[in-house]
Amino acid sequence: MREAKGKGDGQENAPNFIHDLVREDVRTGKHGGVVVTRFPPEPNGYLHIGHAKSICLNFTTAALSDQGRCHLRFDDTNPEAEDVEYVESIRQDVRWLGFDWGSHEYFASDYFERLYQCAVDLIRRGLAYVDSQSLAEIRERRGDFYRPGVNSPFRDRSVEENLDLFARMRAGEFDEGAHVLRAKIDMASKDVNLRDPLMYRIRKVTHHRTGDDWCIYPMYDYAHPMSDAFEGVTHSICTLEFAHHNPLYQWFVSHFEFDPVPRQYEFARLNLTYTVMSKRLLKRLVEEGHVGGWDDPRMPTIAGMRRRGYTPSAIRRFAERIGVSRRDSLVDVGLLEHALREDLNATSPRTMAVLRPLKLVIENLPEEEEIELVAPYSPDDPSFGSRRLYLTRELFIEQEDFMEEPMKKWFRLAPGREVRLRYGALVTCNEVIKDGSGSIVELRCTWDPESKGGNAPDGRKVRGTIHWVSAKHAVDAEVRLYDRLFNEENPLDESHEGDFTRRINPASLEIVRGAKLEPSLAGRGPGERVQLERLGYFVVDPDSTPDRPVYNRTIQLKDSWAKLAGKG
Ligand code: ATP
Ligand code: MG
Repeated sequence: MREAKGKGDGQENAPNFIHDLVREDVRTGKHGGVVVTRFPPEPNGYLHIGHAKSICLNFTTAALSDQGRCHLRFDDTNPEAEDVEYVESIRQDVRWLGFDWGSHEYFASDYFERLYQCAVDLIRRGLAYVDSQSLAEIRERRGDFYRPGVNSPFRDRSVEENLDLFARMRAGEFDEGAHVLRAKIDMASKDVNLRDPLMYRIRKVTHHRTGDDWCIYPMYDYAHPMSDAFEGVTHSICTLEFAHHNPLYQWFVSHFEFDPVPRQYEFARLNLTYTVMSKRLLKRLVEEGHVGGWDDPRMPTIAGMRRRGYTPSAIRRFAERIGVSRRDSLVDVGLLEHALREDLNATSPRTMAVLRPLKLVIENLPEEEEIELVAPYSPDDPSFGSRRLYLTRELFIEQEDFMEEPMKKWFRLAPGREVRLRYGALVTCNEVIKDGSGSIVELRCTWDPESKGGNAPDGRKVRGTIHWVSAKHAVDAEVRLYDRLFNEENPLDESHEGDFTRRINPASLEIVRGAKLEPSLAGRGPGERVQLERLGYFVVDPDSTPDRPVYNRTIQLKDSWAKLAGKG
């Protein structure tokens, strides 16, 4: 497959403090110079562009060492929300982005037994206990930043009693909420997370992989560092909201003889303008029918972006350009679109289609005549090849490309004016035919037979060039045009009224039926990308059938971001 080359492909050195520190670890031979990372999604929704940042970061970080590797670990410790549908979509999305975890696919649920045994070990060593307070009491006695915590009355249970109760929790003898297992750290710690955090709770729910084997489930704060340690992860990279959990992470892994001992590093999550990026909110958009599904081309999900026509390399290049820091920011979606256009510009064949057809009749071209033209797929790269176009008596042009009473500087078609049909010929409009209600139904034109291919024979100046298709050869299609899903830069900004769904752009999807495609656009398979001259970059949608192609507009040609940034 073609990829955009040159400037901007792996050559920008946006600051990335994780890469810097890992390079230093490799140089100094820490962990034998080996780097092991992991991408740990919870299979409770589809991945989004924020996850893509994390995926790119984890895989490129591991690649900094020769024997580095990045694991794909499904963090499936929370049975309620998880589903196999999500597991499969996550695998597909990571692969599509261009990354390979080899044989290193893991599930936190595979560690349930080992996690249980380690918990028993902590109980034996007096480092964990069963608490029988209610969750409300536990929360209340935990205190906060200003108030120290208060010890549970069950904190000093004997090891034997704790072992017995924990075993019976596992055996299903108790109801949900009757007991929990807590780490015994320090209720007076300044760090609230170290005030005897929960390790296990009773949940009588079926897990999508372990079924009803378990009725106690480990908490994230316990399962996550331990899973990292079990797998030999060296650098556990996560987003900043976990920074407060770092000391607890260290506490758990330091109580066992792990080699290497994993360490957690936090970076700022990606936020993008004109979208929301939490799975919880994306799930609402799907469930409440605001969009057609997780892979709706307006969604910031990887599946949605794929269907929209994004290329994996554009997403990777974007991730590289935004860099990695510890400062939260809101990234302009224009930057992502800019990376996409660079890629599509370099890789898409140019073709023609008319979205809103207006009939043009060439009066001096007989009905039975067909003028065959060979047009290149790219004006400046012959390696794209070419296709055939047919100039026939009846053509379609874009309604927008005709103006009955032209304004100043109008170079497209108008009564008495001559225009160039791209790769076709020069035509002059002689007459405008209207129906009873005054709408234009047809333009009567003549062509200059000397201008075959679109060149003026005598070098006369014809400034306007428009796209067209032969009515006889045109293929009918549905074309879906997209705009931003939200009207506001930050749909979650608290200054707005009401729920974020009230900021949905009602014009974010426009379906154009009865578009006319040039013949080469029929029979292309889902995922094939083209440029439709003057209209934008498009991709074949999976809803497409051989008789009725469906094209999605990925993005328009004009790059307002490049202009703003002074590059356009
Ligand atoms: P969300 O907040 O969207 O629901 P999550 O953090 O709950 O996402 P996980 O499945 O737990 O989703 O995330 C897997 C990994 O992706 C985590 O390491 C998480 O830190 C990272 N991640 C999630 N959102 C972003 C983001 N916006 N930018 C960068 N990394 C992210
Ligand atoms: Mg999460």
